[in-house]
Amino acid sequence: MSKINIAIDGPSASGKSTIAKQLCKKLDYKHLDTGAMYRCVALKVVKTGIDYNDEAALKELLKGIKIDFSSDGKVFLDGEDVSSAIRTDEISMMASNVSTKLTVRKHLVKMQQKIAKNKGYIMDGRDIGTVVLPDAEVKIFMTASAETRAKRRYLENQERGIKSNLRALTQEIIERDYQDSHRKHSPLKKAEDAIEIDTSEMTIVQVVDEIMQIVEEKL
Ligand code: C5P
Repeated sequence: MSKINIAIDGPSASGKSTIAKQLCKKLDYKHLDTGAMYRCVALKVVKTGIDYNDEAALKELLKGIKIDFSSDGKVFLDGEDVSSAIRTDEISMMASNVSTKLTVRKHLVKMQQKIAKNKGYIMDGRDIGTVVLPDAEVKIFMTASAETRAKRRYLENQERGIKSNLRALTQEIIERDYQDSHRKHSPLKKAEDAIEIDTSEMTIVQVVDEIMQIVEEKL
C-alpha cells in the first residue's frame, strides 16, 4: 500500500510525540519530532554561548550543525547523544526563543521537507500542516488544557528522573505557547484542513484509535 505523510501540530505537551510514536508502530511509519530539532539548535546556542539575536553567529552555528535520530528515538547533536540534555526547562524556553528566528526556521524546514520527501512520515511540531508539509494527506491539530499538559509533562519528567515543579511547569507552558502562537514567522496555528482533537479527557489509546480511523479512511 502506498504511504502518506501525517502532520501533527499542537501546543507544547499536548501529547503529539507520544501519539506519533504509537501510530508509527501501528503503521510501520517513521517519526520525526521536529521540536527536538529546535531543541538541538537551542542547546548548541547555550553551549557555544552565542546571543541568539546575533544573526551572523546563528548562521555560522547552523552551517555546521548535525542533527540525527536513531531508530529507537535517541537524538544526536554533532554526534553526541543529547536525548536528555534537550529536555530541560532552560532548553525548552530557548528552543521557543530560537524558533522565532527566520534563519533557524528556514534551515530546519528545509531539512524536514527533504526527510519527508519519500513519504511514510509522521511529523509533529507547530507548523507542519501549515508550512513544512502543506500537502500532508492527514493533518491533526492536537490540543489539551494547560493544566492537563503541565501534569503530563510533570509525570514525564518524573519518569525521566528530571526534577520539576508543577506550578513552574504550568507557567512555562503558558509562556511558551504564547510566544509560539504570537511570533511573526510560522506561528502555531491550526491548518484550515486539519482535524482538531482535544485530548484533555482522552486516553492515549482513544486518541490513537481516532487518528487511525482518519488515516484508514485516507488510505
Ligand atoms: O515540541 P517541543 O515542545 O519539543 O518544541 C520545542 C519548541 O520548538 C516549541 O516551543 C516551539 O517554539 C519550537 N517548534 C517550532 N516549530 C516546530 C516544532 C517546535 O517552532 N515545528
